Amino acid sequence: MNILVINAGSSSLKYTLFAMESKTVLEHGVIEHIGEPHGKYSNHHEAIVSIFDHQLEVDMIAHRVVHGADQFTQAVKIDQKVIETICDLIPLAPLHNKANLDAIEVAMGLYPLLPQVAVFDTAFHQSMPKEAYLYALPYELYEKEKIRRYGFHGTSHQYLSKTMAQILQKPLETLNVITLHLGNGSSACAIKGGKSIDTSMGMSPLAGLIMGSRCGDIDSEIIFHLHQKMGLDFDAIDHILNKESGLKGICGQNDLRAIIEDSSERADLALNMYARSVKKYIGAYIALLGSVDAIIFSGGIGEHSAFMRQKIIKGFEESFNIVLDSSANEENKACISTQKSKIGVYVIATNEELEIASQALAFLEVDSK
Ligand code: ADP
Repeated sequence: MNILVINAGSSSLKYTLFAMESKTVLEHGVIEHIGEPHGKYSNHHEAIVSIFDHQLEVDMIAHRVVHGADQFTQAVKIDQKVIETICDLIPLAPLHNKANLDAIEVAMGLYPLLPQVAVFDTAFHQSMPKEAYLYALPYELYEKEKIRRYGFHGTSHQYLSKTMAQILQKPLETLNVITLHLGNGSSACAIKGGKSIDTSMGMSPLAGLIMGSRCGDIDSEIIFHLHQKMGLDFDAIDHILNKESGLKGICGQNDLRAIIEDSSERADLALNMYARSVKKYIGAYIALLGSVDAIIFSGGIGEHSAFMRQKIIKGFEESFNIVLDSSANEENKACISTQKSKIGVYVIATNEELEIASQALAFLEVDSK
């Protein structure tokens, strides 16, 4: 069984073809600048046709869809009703869901006989209890407008917890972990027995941890200040919070590698602020989970930056008895805590594409029974 995973952005399209028996990658590519003047393809239609020009043998297509709101708790076979629901959810994630939908419609039109499945970034977090996903706003805003926390990076957090269970050779149902997906977009998740019970992103991916260029948690009053006192319109505010904030807002750049190289005071401040924001979520999630088996670092920063991992875990030794093994950390080993550490600290490379393909396959196997 060969599954093609399509991850469409507004101007990019990543694709990976997996041979599921061996879980190997047969083909992988990234098409960028779709629809831009210097781009090779003017739309998603041309981009997807170009993938199939490679004479791929594809048995099924799995599409990553960012926002499934409360409508999808797991992978689903795409039909007209699913397309309409994803379309209805566009207001919750305007850029992302629109791009995902474009790719789905093109692929369904071109390959109507291939089974096609949608896998949602939000689905894993649908297990959160109400007290975790509700905002303390008037209840009608939740009932009528679906304003609540949804959480994202779900396939990554799920993949990390499942992989941790395999590494520790423990049943997933008995394992409590904190997963840290730290990339340009960053989020933390508290996972109890394989189920997400809280996560740092919210109704949108803007909330939670400080990110490359997103602000993470801020006082919402700041938005009124920017509008009323500074006269900025909502598009300008949106741009500031999503594209000009986070690490970039503090020190002018969002690439952690470059910031670590930079010896300026602002770069130092940005690094301290980032570590502090992750640290606060770890502390909160230890409290929520009660007992924790492992803290897992992943994403570009989590997988590669020993410096940032050390900065984040520093200070947990005394009261929490979490102790890093500094040479294992420097060497990017899988387990980076000492034997004595009460909670194991691990580095696991996430693989969202493989998780998407696996969930699509699992769905199809159940569906065809
Ligand atoms: P995205 O969210 O766009 O998928 P990634 O998961 O690729 O992002 O993470 C990108 C981040 O990882 C960047 O800030 C980059 O600097 C950081 N990163 C990658 N490699 C290293 C490294 N060796 N040391 C420090 N940071 C790194």
